[in-house]
Amino acid sequence: MHVMVISTGGTIACTAGSDGALVPTLTAAELVAQSATVHEVRGVDANRIDSSSATLADLDRLREAVRTSLLDASVAGVVVTHGTDSLAETALGLDLVHRDPRPVILTGAMRPADDAAPDGPANLRGAIEAAAHPQRAGVHIHFDGATLPARGVMKVATTAHDAFALASPRPLPRPMPVPAAPLAGLDVPIVRAWAGADGRLVEAVRDADGVILEALGSGNVSSEMGESVAALLRRGTPVVVASSVPHGDVSFSYGGAGGGSTLGALGAIPAGYLSAGQARVALATALATGVDPRSLL
Ligand code: ASP
Repeated sequence: MHVMVISTGGTIACTAGSDGALVPTLTAAELVAQSATVHEVRGVDANRIDSSSATLADLDRLREAVRTSLLDASVAGVVVTHGTDSLAETALGLDLVHRDPRPVILTGAMRPADDAAPDGPANLRGAIEAAAHPQRAGVHIHFDGATLPARGVMKVATTAHDAFALASPRPLPRPMPVPAAPLAGLDVPIVRAWAGADGRLVEAVRDADGVILEALGSGNVSSEMGESVAALLRRGTPVVVASSVPHGDVSFSYGGAGGGSTLGALGAIPAGYLSAGQARVALATALATGVDPRSLL
C-alpha cells in the first residue's frame, strides 16, 4: 500500500525568484523527499499555481485526479498539497463528492520551501501519516499538527503556522456526497456587504447563476443592499447568505429591508457555519448536480 501525493502548487512548493517574489517551483517528488516520511509514497504533479488563482475548472480536474488515484486498490489514501489561500474551498469541493472510505488530506505551508525554517515538510509528513492510517470519513486538512474536517474550516491567519480553524464549535455533520458534475463555466460570485452599502455590487452580478452574499454579523446587510438582493431573489437567482464573522453560524433574526429575517422570507438561503468561499463551492456544486443547495449547506 502507498499514499498518493498530488501537488498543485502554493507556498509549500514555492521558492524565491531572483526578484525575491515567491513562485511555485517544487515537484511532488521534491516535496515528498523534503518531508522525510517513512511511508511508501508516490507523487503526481497536477498543477503548479498560487491557489488564489484556482478556478472551478481546476477543482474539476483535481476531483478527477483524486477519483483516478483511488481507482488503484494499493492506494491507502491521498494527500493534496495546495496553497493555503483557497485550501479550505478546495477541501470542501473534494469533500462534497468524496464517497470512498479512504482518507483525502489537504496540506500546505505558511513558509516557502527555501525558508530557513519551512513548515511544509512537517505538514506534509503529518498529512501522509493521516492518509496512511485511516480513522476518519471524508476529506480533512492537516496543518501545524492538527487534523480538521474540511467542512467549516477556514484560513484565520495570514502568517501564523496554525493558520486554520473550524468556524463551528464542533465538527459539522457531512451531507451525503453527490456525483461530481463539472463546475467549470458556472458563475457564482461573492458580494461583500459593508455598513451602509449601496446596491451597486449586487446589481453588477444580476446575471450570475447564483450569488453568495458575505453579510455582516449573523447575516444582515444594509437596507439599500437588501433591496437589490430582493430584486435578485425575485428574478429567481439563488442567493446564499454567509457571514464575514469567522466564528458562529448565520441566523436570520433581524427585520428591515436588509435584515436576515427579511432576506430569508424572500428565499435567501443561510450558509450555516460555512464561510463565503466554502458556501460558493457548495452552491456551485448544487447547481451543477441539480440538488437543493440547502442539502449541501
Ligand atoms: N498565496 C499562496 C497560495 O495560496 C499562499 C500559501 O500557499 O500559503 O498559493
